[in-house]
Amino acid sequence: MSEPEKSISPLAQPAGSVWGVGEERAKLLARLNIFTVEDLLLHPPRRYEDRRKFLPVRDLKPAEAATVRGKIIAAGIKRFKKGTRAMFECVFDDGTARLHCRWWQAQPWMPDWYAVGREFLIYGKLEDDKKPRTFTHPETELVEPGDDEFVHVNRIVPVHPLTEGLTARVMRSLVWRALEKFETQIAEPDIKLDLKIFPARANAVRMVHFPEELTDVEIARQRLALDEFVALQFQIQSRRKKFEASAKALPCGGDNRLMKPFLGELGFKLTSAQTSVLKEIRADMGGVHPMRRLLQGDVGSGKTAVAACSALMALESGFNVALMAPTEILAEQHFRNFSRWFESLGIQVLLQTGSRKTSGELPIANRQSPILFVGTHALLSGGFELPRLGLVIVDEQHKFGVAQRETLVRKGNYPHLLVMTATPIPRTLGLTLYGDLDVSVIDELPGGRGAVKTFVRTTVKLPKVFEFIREKISGGRQAYIVYPRVDVADTDKDIKAVTKEFENVQRALNGFKVGLLHGRIKPVEKEKTMAEFRANKIQALVATSLIEVGVDVPNATVMLIENAEHFGLAQLHQLRGRIGRGAHESFCILISDAQNAEAQARLDILAETNDGFKIAEADLKLRGPGELLGQQQSGAMKLRFGNLVEDLNLIRQARSLVAKKF
Ligand code: ADP
Ligand code: MG
Repeated sequence: MSEPEKSISPLAQPAGSVWGVGEERAKLLARLNIFTVEDLLLHPPRRYEDRRKFLPVRDLKPAEAATVRGKIIAAGIKRFKKGTRAMFECVFDDGTARLHCRWWQAQPWMPDWYAVGREFLIYGKLEDDKKPRTFTHPETELVEPGDDEFVHVNRIVPVHPLTEGLTARVMRSLVWRALEKFETQIAEPDIKLDLKIFPARANAVRMVHFPEELTDVEIARQRLALDEFVALQFQIQSRRKKFEASAKALPCGGDNRLMKPFLGELGFKLTSAQTSVLKEIRADMGGVHPMRRLLQGDVGSGKTAVAACSALMALESGFNVALMAPTEILAEQHFRNFSRWFESLGIQVLLQTGSRKTSGELPIANRQSPILFVGTHALLSGGFELPRLGLVIVDEQHKFGVAQRETLVRKGNYPHLLVMTATPIPRTLGLTLYGDLDVSVIDELPGGRGAVKTFVRTTVKLPKVFEFIREKISGGRQAYIVYPRVDVADTDKDIKAVTKEFENVQRALNGFKVGLLHGRIKPVEKEKTMAEFRANKIQALVATSLIEVGVDVPNATVMLIENAEHFGLAQLHQLRGRIGRGAHESFCILISDAQNAEAQARLDILAETNDGFKIAEADLKLRGPGELLGQQQSGAMKLRFGNLVEDLNLIRQARSLVAKKF
């Protein structure tokens, strides 16, 4: 299948080929990102007005938005005593009653525009049922007798997003004319949809602007959204096909020679979720195409053990492995664990981070036995070579961009790729953002874990909370205490910072040792602090969200997060994932004085559930996909009609339609 040939479509002509778009208007349209006829046709209305019949002014009810049609019988500017502030007010009459309309900031053009005798459509709502009936800042549209009168009244009309200098009426006329001239050129895409279920694309474009009934709008939107998802899936899947055609897999299935002793020494039995994921990975790594797999598992689900087993498969097969982590702390932790596990198996583990470089020290290329490289993005650096690379593992993938992941992959000759993430990606995003990867899910936590209880409290409760922490520490446990900032910012003194709170915490927990961890502390210091915390020489760790990823100290059972409203929901869940890793019961206390309902709703979700999937979906609904997309290719996600929160079904349909085509 060839790339769709967009350039020859008549719809790709400049918007100027629509009658009424001159140089000036073309500039205004450009401000709305409308450059071509197609952009104009696909400019989604922001709302609709049913102008099949107008409500008599007499029948207006408070708080109910409505459109009325009336003539101006009086208008004028009202000045206030002091200053230059002026209000513009005009009075409409529709034959049933009078309606006052006012704008708090009179504009110079208003007296001419709202001239006595002119007729307008007015969209707004009454604030109360007092007389005179009044709309404040209504949207209005001049009724001009003319050819295109039927475009603007006696039907359901669209109101599009506008820009200054472009009225709703003009925009509507332009879209109408574009439809009249180009409707027959709106082609069905290469991938045919079932037209018994969906309207034809050309019909959908008309319906989305000029629906017969309001219920048509959603049908049309779905059709246009589906087209967007099909285009997106086409991109994703053709990239993948191209990759598979050019890539030959290295045989990395392994022979269990190292795996067996490793599992024997591990100290626990893999969960059945871990085992079944490993089966999928083994099939991939022994297969004909290089593995491209995303491993999703909630915090604490045991992804590291899966990574270790996957690494052993490649190592058994005689290939080197690279494991990349997003922070030095996490890279160090992996380095320590993997060294402990692998060195008795005769596998060397090397660390490569910004502050610890192994390159140059060792003539790596000459080695006989395979090596595991562990590191941060320092692994990506140009001078650092990764010879005979069989497998690339990226931990906490959501902290990296796709480009970084691919840079690492390109250091080898089509190595297998395993990316791991603890951010459960809502399926809509998974299918688009990670559409070029196969997905495995670890949907089970290892047994023998204490429960995690979560509470939301205000700052007045802090003394009690610290009392509680003292009690837990006295009982032998450890605590994390997290703040949003490193330093107090002048602009926002209410947001607490670790450097300032550190002393307060020391005072509150006197008799115990408190450590401090944030991004500006030197790596050696960080390492030392982490080592002491792991050994319980430090009982409480004051930290920024730096510790959000990967840190694994099972004896830590208390997580206190201040200014909790300053963290994202997914982030809070990650932070909370640092506790509940051992047999003891754990406690997460979120401190927030935030008054607004959204912030409280978010924190309540955390208190209600530990299920990362539910939390991610809630986060997506509350905040939109931007946050989750993060540094990913959000550019590819410019959807006009599709919705990454709601359209799971459409995305699935698009995916299978495109898959059939290949
Ligand atoms: P994550 O998926 O968040 O990376 P980790 O790999 O850090 O989780 O594992 C969390 C903790 O669970 C670690 O202490 C690890 O040793 C332990 N663990 C992993 N798998 C099992 C298992 N099957 N049984 C018991 N404990 C396990
Ligand atoms: Mg991990």
